Amino acid sequence: MLLEELRTAVVQVGKELAASGLVLGTWGNVSAREGDLVAITPSGLPYSALAPEDIVVVDLEGETVEGKWRPSTELPLHLAVYRKRPDVGGIVHTHSVGSMTLAACHHPLPPFTEEQAQLIGGRVPVAAYAPPGTEELAQAAVAALGEGKAVLLANHGLVGVGKTVEEALLTCQVVEKSAQIYLWACLLGGPVLLSEEEVRSLRENFLRNYGQKGAGG
Ligand SMILES: [Zn+2]
Repeated sequence: MLLEELRTAVVQVGKELAASGLVLGTWGNVSAREGDLVAITPSGLPYSALAPEDIVVVDLEGETVEGKWRPSTELPLHLAVYRKRPDVGGIVHTHSVGSMTLAACHHPLPPFTEEQAQLIGGRVPVAAYAPPGTEELAQAAVAALGEGKAVLLANHGLVGVGKTVEEALLTCQVVEKSAQIYLWACLLGGPVLLSEEEVRSLRENFLRNYGQKGAGG
Protein backbone atom coordinates (compact mmCIF):
# COMPACT_ATOMS: atom_id res chain seq x y z
CA MET A 1 0.00 0.00 0.00
CA LEU A 2 1.25 3.44 -0.87
CA LEU A 3 1.95 5.84 2.01
CA GLU A 4 -0.68 8.16 0.55
CA GLU A 5 -3.35 5.44 0.78
CA LEU A 6 -2.32 4.69 4.37
CA ARG A 7 -2.69 8.38 5.31
CA THR A 8 -6.06 8.60 3.55
CA ALA A 9 -7.31 5.50 5.40
CA VAL A 10 -6.30 7.09 8.75
CA VAL A 11 -8.15 10.32 7.86
CA GLN A 12 -11.31 8.43 6.82
CA VAL A 13 -11.35 6.31 9.99
CA GLY A 14 -10.67 9.42 12.12
CA LYS A 15 -13.66 11.21 10.60
CA GLU A 16 -15.86 8.12 11.05
CA LEU A 17 -14.67 7.85 14.66
CA ALA A 18 -15.71 11.44 15.39
CA ALA A 19 -19.01 11.07 13.48
CA SER A 20 -19.93 7.92 15.41
CA GLY A 21 -19.56 9.74 18.74
CA LEU A 22 -16.73 7.54 20.08
CA VAL A 23 -14.58 10.63 20.71
CA LEU A 24 -15.23 14.30 21.46
CA GLY A 25 -13.08 17.18 20.22
CA THR A 26 -9.52 16.08 19.55
CA TRP A 27 -9.44 13.16 22.00
CA GLY A 28 -8.61 9.67 20.81
CA ASN A 29 -6.22 8.77 18.01
CA VAL A 30 -5.90 6.56 14.94
CA SER A 31 -2.96 4.87 13.22
CA ALA A 32 -2.22 2.40 10.42
CA ARG A 33 0.98 0.45 9.80
CA GLU A 34 2.62 -0.69 6.60
CA GLY A 35 5.88 -2.58 7.11
CA ASP A 36 8.11 -0.48 9.38
CA LEU A 37 6.15 2.74 8.89
CA VAL A 38 3.24 4.04 10.95
CA ALA A 39 0.79 6.76 9.81
CA ILE A 40 -0.80 8.42 12.85
CA THR A 41 -3.14 11.33 13.57
CA PRO A 42 -1.44 14.57 14.66
CA SER A 43 -1.69 15.92 18.19
CA GLY A 44 -4.55 18.35 18.89
CA LEU A 45 -6.08 18.80 15.43
CA PRO A 46 -9.86 18.31 15.08
CA TYR A 47 -10.90 15.27 13.01
CA SER A 48 -13.27 17.36 10.89
CA ALA A 49 -10.36 19.41 9.53
CA LEU A 50 -7.95 16.52 8.88
CA ALA A 51 -6.49 16.00 5.39
CA PRO A 52 -4.09 13.21 4.35
CA GLU A 53 -1.12 15.63 4.44
CA ASP A 54 -1.83 16.29 8.16
CA ILE A 55 -1.15 12.63 9.03
CA VAL A 56 2.34 12.10 10.45
CA VAL A 57 4.43 9.17 9.24
CA VAL A 58 6.97 7.77 11.73
CA ASP A 59 9.21 4.71 11.90
CA LEU A 60 8.87 2.08 14.64
CA GLU A 61 11.31 4.08 16.83
CA GLY A 62 9.02 7.11 16.60
CA GLU A 63 11.25 9.23 14.34
CA THR A 64 9.20 11.37 11.95
CA VAL A 65 9.70 10.31 8.33
CA GLU A 66 7.11 12.64 6.79
CA GLY A 67 4.71 15.26 8.11
CA LYS A 68 4.63 18.81 9.44
CA TRP A 69 2.82 18.22 12.76
CA ARG A 70 3.70 16.58 16.05
CA PRO A 71 2.26 13.04 16.20
CA SER A 72 -0.44 12.06 18.71
CA THR A 73 0.77 12.09 22.32
CA GLU A 74 -0.22 8.40 22.51
CA LEU A 75 2.40 7.50 19.87
CA PRO A 76 4.37 5.35 22.42
CA LEU A 77 1.27 3.17 22.94
CA HIS A 78 0.71 2.67 19.19
CA LEU A 79 4.40 1.85 18.59
CA ALA A 80 4.54 -0.60 21.52
CA VAL A 81 1.54 -2.52 20.11
CA TYR A 82 3.00 -2.61 16.56
CA ARG A 83 6.39 -3.78 17.82
CA LYS A 84 4.80 -6.59 19.85
CA ARG A 85 2.11 -7.61 17.35
CA PRO A 86 3.21 -8.08 13.72
CA ASP A 87 -0.38 -9.15 12.90
CA VAL A 88 -1.74 -5.68 13.78
CA GLY A 89 -2.08 -3.20 10.90
CA GLY A 90 -4.31 -0.60 12.55
CA ILE A 91 -5.05 0.86 16.00
CA VAL A 92 -7.91 3.06 17.20
CA HIS A 93 -8.05 4.66 20.66
CA THR A 94 -11.39 6.07 21.84
CA HIS A 95 -12.75 7.97 24.82
CA SER A 96 -16.26 6.53 24.49
CA VAL A 97 -18.75 6.63 27.35
CA GLY A 98 -19.53 2.94 27.93
CA SER A 99 -15.90 1.83 27.72
CA MET A 100 -14.76 4.74 29.90
CA THR A 101 -17.35 3.81 32.52
CA LEU A 102 -15.91 0.29 32.77
CA ALA A 103 -12.36 1.68 32.63
CA ALA A 104 -13.17 4.11 35.46
CA CYS A 105 -14.25 1.14 37.63
CA HIS A 106 -11.32 -1.07 36.48
CA HIS A 107 -14.02 -3.53 35.39
CA PRO A 108 -13.25 -5.87 32.45
CA LEU A 109 -15.95 -6.47 29.84
CA PRO A 110 -17.01 -10.13 29.95
CA PRO A 111 -18.20 -11.88 26.78
CA PHE A 112 -21.99 -12.06 26.69
CA THR A 113 -23.12 -11.03 23.18
CA GLU A 114 -22.59 -13.14 20.09
CA GLU A 115 -21.06 -10.20 18.20
CA GLN A 116 -18.46 -9.63 20.90
CA ALA A 117 -17.64 -13.36 20.93
CA GLN A 118 -17.41 -13.43 17.13
CA LEU A 119 -15.44 -10.23 16.53
CA ILE A 120 -13.43 -9.82 19.75
CA GLY A 121 -13.16 -13.46 20.75
CA GLY A 122 -13.50 -13.06 24.52
CA ARG A 123 -13.36 -10.67 27.43
CA VAL A 124 -11.79 -7.23 27.18
CA PRO A 125 -9.24 -6.80 30.02
CA VAL A 126 -8.26 -3.61 31.87
CA ALA A 127 -4.61 -2.47 31.75
CA ALA A 128 -3.02 -1.22 34.97
CA TYR A 129 -3.30 2.55 35.46
CA ALA A 130 -0.53 4.77 34.11
CA PRO A 131 -0.59 8.44 33.07
CA PRO A 132 -1.58 9.17 29.42
CA GLY A 133 1.15 9.46 26.82
CA THR A 134 3.76 7.60 28.87
CA GLU A 135 5.88 4.57 28.04
CA GLU A 136 4.52 3.08 31.27
CA LEU A 137 0.98 3.23 29.83
CA ALA A 138 2.22 1.72 26.56
CA GLN A 139 3.77 -1.24 28.40
CA ALA A 140 0.71 -1.75 30.63
CA ALA A 141 -1.58 -1.75 27.56
CA VAL A 142 0.58 -4.21 25.60
CA ALA A 143 0.81 -6.56 28.60
CA ALA A 144 -2.96 -6.61 29.17
CA LEU A 145 -3.80 -6.79 25.43
CA GLY A 146 -1.69 -9.92 24.90
CA GLU A 147 -2.88 -11.54 21.67
CA GLY A 148 -6.36 -9.99 22.04
CA LYS A 149 -8.18 -7.38 19.98
CA ALA A 150 -9.05 -4.76 22.60
CA VAL A 151 -7.96 -3.43 25.98
CA LEU A 152 -9.47 -0.91 28.40
CA LEU A 153 -7.05 1.68 29.80
CA ALA A 154 -7.79 2.21 33.50
CA ASN A 155 -9.50 5.59 34.18
CA HIS A 156 -8.95 6.54 30.56
CA GLY A 157 -10.51 4.78 27.54
CA LEU A 158 -10.37 1.97 25.01
CA VAL A 159 -7.81 0.68 22.51
CA GLY A 160 -8.91 -1.59 19.65
CA VAL A 161 -6.68 -3.26 17.08
CA GLY A 162 -7.22 -5.00 13.74
CA LYS A 163 -5.49 -6.29 10.64
CA THR A 164 -6.41 -2.92 9.11
CA VAL A 165 -7.32 0.47 10.57
CA GLU A 166 -10.92 -0.07 9.40
CA GLU A 167 -11.03 -3.34 11.37
CA ALA A 168 -9.60 -1.55 14.44
CA LEU A 169 -12.51 0.92 14.23
CA LEU A 170 -15.00 -1.97 14.02
CA THR A 171 -13.33 -3.51 17.11
CA CYS A 172 -13.90 -0.27 19.05
CA GLN A 173 -17.50 0.04 17.83
CA VAL A 174 -18.35 -3.52 18.90
CA VAL A 175 -16.63 -3.17 22.29
CA GLU A 176 -18.32 0.18 22.96
CA LYS A 177 -21.75 -1.19 22.04
CA SER A 178 -21.19 -4.26 24.26
CA ALA A 179 -19.99 -2.02 27.11
CA GLN A 180 -23.18 0.05 26.92
CA ILE A 181 -25.39 -3.07 26.79
CA TYR A 182 -23.42 -4.50 29.73
CA LEU A 183 -24.16 -1.42 31.85
CA TRP A 184 -27.89 -1.63 31.02
CA ALA A 185 -27.89 -5.39 31.69
CA CYS A 186 -26.32 -4.77 35.10
CA LEU A 187 -29.47 -2.79 36.01
CA LEU A 188 -31.44 -6.02 35.42
CA GLY A 189 -29.18 -8.09 37.65
CA GLY A 190 -26.34 -8.63 35.18
CA PRO A 191 -26.15 -10.42 31.81
CA VAL A 192 -26.00 -14.19 31.44
CA LEU A 193 -22.41 -14.75 30.33
CA LEU A 194 -21.41 -17.04 27.47
CA SER A 195 -19.26 -20.00 28.49
CA GLU A 196 -15.63 -20.12 27.35
CA GLU A 197 -16.50 -23.03 25.09
CA GLU A 198 -19.41 -21.15 23.50
CA VAL A 199 -17.23 -18.07 22.93
CA ARG A 200 -14.55 -20.20 21.28
CA SER A 201 -17.07 -21.91 19.03
CA LEU A 202 -18.70 -18.60 17.99
CA ARG A 203 -15.29 -17.11 17.20
CA GLU A 204 -14.13 -20.12 15.21
CA ASN A 205 -17.35 -20.32 13.20
CA PHE A 206 -17.15 -16.61 12.50
CA LEU A 207 -13.55 -16.80 11.27
CA ARG A 208 -14.39 -19.84 9.13
CA ASN A 209 -17.77 -18.96 7.65
CA TYR A 210 -18.61 -15.25 7.82
CA GLY A 211 -18.58 -13.00 4.74
CA GLN A 212 -17.65 -13.90 1.16
CA LYS A 213 -14.86 -16.34 0.43
CA GLY A 214 -11.58 -14.50 0.03
CA ALA A 215 -13.12 -11.18 1.04
CA GLY A 216 -12.11 -11.40 4.70
CA GLY A 217 -14.23 -10.94 7.87
ZN1 LIG B 1 -6.71 8.83 25.47
